[in-house]
Amino acid sequence: MEGVAVRGTQRSPMQLIPAGQGAAVPLARGQRIRVVNTHGTQVVDFWGFARVAPAEEYLSMEHCRELLQKIHFDVGDTLITNRYSPILTILADSTTAEHDTLIAACSRDMYRRLGRGEDHANCADNLDAALAGLRLWVPFTPSPWNLFMRAPVRDGRRIEYERPTCKPGDHVELRAEMDCVLVFSACADDVYPTNGGDGTPRDAHFQVLEA
Ligand SMILES: [Zn+2]
Repeated sequence: MEGVAVRGTQRSPMQLIPAGQGAAVPLARGQRIRVVNTHGTQVVDFWGFARVAPAEEYLSMEHCRELLQKIHFDVGDTLITNRYSPILTILADSTTAEHDTLIAACSRDMYRRLGRGEDHANCADNLDAALAGLRLWVPFTPSPWNLFMRAPVRDGRRIEYERPTCKPGDHVELRAEMDCVLVFSACADDVYPTNGGDGTPRDAHFQVLEA
C-alpha cells in the first residue's frame, strides 16, 4: 500500500509486545515507529500520550473522528489529542484493515460480565502497567485506536466483529508530531473473533525507526 515520506534506515531492534500484555515506548517529535502484526491475527490496542504526568493529554479517537470527518483513518492523516494538538501522522499501512476506532479497550469488567473470571488479562490493566513503568498514570482509560481490528459498521448503524484480514508481518508506520509516549497492548480477548477467533492471543512487535 502507498506510503508517504518514508526515508532513512531502521535503527532499533524489533521490540516485543507479549501476547496478552502491554508495552510502552517514549518517542521524540519526528521519530517514526512501525507496529507489526507479527502473526496476522492479533489486534493491538494503541494509545498515545503527551509526556507529562498525569497523562491527561492523549490521542483522542473522538477528536480525530470529528476533525477528520471519518471513523477510519488513512495514510497521510494526522491524528490529534483531546486538546487538538497533532500527535501522530500515519505514514504507511501495509494492511487492508480499517483499524477500529469505536470499541473500548477490554477490561476486567468486560471479562467478568462475559463469565471469564476476575483475573483475565486485559488491555485496560495493560495500559496502566505500561504507563506505570514510565512513572506515568492516567485516571481513566481513553478509547484506544484498535490497530488491525475489524469491527465494520453495517447499514450505517450495526457493528459486526470480524477476524483480522492481515497477513503475518503486516504493519503500520507512524511519525510522532510531539514528544510523546506510545502504549501497546496485544489484546487478550478470547471471546470475540477479532483476534482470529481461536482463543489464542499472540505476540506483536514494534520498532522505532530513524528520525
Ligand atoms: Zn483487549
